Amino acid sequence: MDDTLDSLFDRLNAGLFDGRLPTYRVRRCPPQAGERGFIDEKARTIWICTSSETRETLLHEMCHIGTPGHGRRFRAKLKRLARRGESWAQAERAYYLRAELRMRAEHWMALWEIGRGLTRGLGRFRA
Ligand SMILES: [Zn+2]
Repeated sequence: MDDTLDSLFDRLNAGLFDGRLPTYRVRRCPPQAGERGFIDEKARTIWICTSSETRETLLHEMCHIGTPGHGRRFRAKLKRLARRGESWAQAERAYYLRAELRMRAEHWMALWEIGRGLTRGLGRFRA
């Protein structure tokens, strides 16, 4: 039992989510490369793997309740947190937005390359 993390969840839920989130258990897991924490929605458990950014990581995972991925809905939740004084959430939101825009740009670039290849192929075919 980790009362501290569970009560931190309750406090953050009440203070920043208006108590609307369903109750989750929060547990520590061994540090893992590239993983600050993760959520197991089926088991209603949030795992925290970092020792230094517990609060931010927990809030990040709380934003994932009912919202998988870091898309528009997730970023809207970060924005709400930022408006409530969590300034780190603004930076994180910008980070995920940039990541998505970069991915989209790469996607269009790839399509453009394919299109160009096809056009060139057609040109050669016609000639
Ligand atoms: Zn995440």
